[in-house]
Amino acid sequence: MGGAEQKYVKEAFDTNWIAPLGPNVTGFERDIQSYLGQTSHVAVLSSGTASLHLGLQLLGVGRGDEVLCQSFTFSASANPIVYLGATPIFIDSEKETWNMSPELLEIAILDRIQLGKKPKAIVAVHLYGMPYKVKEVHEIAAKFNIPILEDSAEALGSSYHGIKCGTFGDISVLSFNGNKIITTSGGGAMVSKNKGYIEKAIHLATQARDSAVHYQHSDIGYNYRMSNVLAGIGRGQMEVLDDRVGARRSNHQFYLDHLNAIPKIEFLKEPDGFFSNRWLSCILTPSYEIREQIRLALLEDDIESRPLWKPMHLQPVFKACPNYSDGTSEDLFNKGLCLPSGSNLSTNDLERIVQIIKNTQL
Ligand SMILES: *Cc1c(COP(=O)(O)O)cnc(C)c1O
Repeated sequence: MGGAEQKYVKEAFDTNWIAPLGPNVTGFERDIQSYLGQTSHVAVLSSGTASLHLGLQLLGVGRGDEVLCQSFTFSASANPIVYLGATPIFIDSEKETWNMSPELLEIAILDRIQLGKKPKAIVAVHLYGMPYKVKEVHEIAAKFNIPILEDSAEALGSSYHGIKCGTFGDISVLSFNGNKIITTSGGGAMVSKNKGYIEKAIHLATQARDSAVHYQHSDIGYNYRMSNVLAGIGRGQMEVLDDRVGARRSNHQFYLDHLNAIPKIEFLKEPDGFFSNRWLSCILTPSYEIREQIRLALLEDDIESRPLWKPMHLQPVFKACPNYSDGTSEDLFNKGLCLPSGSNLSTNDLERIVQIIKNTQL
């Protein structure tokens, strides 16, 4: 926490706004809106997953539809597709950003159309905070007139050619879960330039109550709005967002400075115009064995590190879903490792981690 959170939470208590509406909810939305710019409209919701669920529904995804989804991601990018009775079609990554491959995306779209069904939406993810190839992916989406759900859950504070991630999709999603760059313990947001989507999202997220004195409903609603207490935490966190991005980026720089000389360790570079919040600092090794050697050496000293996300097309739960892969994300999964990346790591912590890796006989 940054310090100002308790002030906003106390305000919620003092004014008795203990509800999924109130001044912190509105204030948090305004703070996010002014941070992102680009005339975005914002609805804060109970989680990133809930935001993805409503977002896909608003883009028209329903039973029997197909949705193209980046395979190399956390399962929450794909699960809401299934909530809606649709089928995820997984797309592999390219090597420069580790995100959705524009080439495979186009191949998949053409193939699905050939097979008789045009995909309803594309879920593109800025994984670990690294922007996906926005221009290429959005050009293909525009060519086939397929809307994009931009999963920016890990990329608040990242930008692409000076424009903030979370503003590129027809609908975009942020997460404030406990593990993200800023947090409300649990929470998320939907962002769109289309005000109609945001108004509809708030309506659906608050049980879809029609405007009548009695309780009347013309839609199936959800209880997905953010609590005014948690939005207070969010307002405080917005004040330290840039510090958090700075801390994460300096962790990454430290690893880079101290490990770059080891030929067997590679880092993901920011292509020109790409700015990553470096939510997690990741390394790539030449093999599964070397990756494990490093992970186990760290574990020996009580330091947790984790393999990169296991691609969705390799997950047991999604094994029946079609995928368009060339082995890139499977390779990243086998050889990559997320190093400790918290915003509160001390130089001492970082030195310890680097020393253990250097001592590993690779
Ligand atoms: C965390 C995360 C989500 C889900 O957000 P929650 O707020 O935890 O529901 C979705 N997509 C990605 C890529 C994530 O990392």
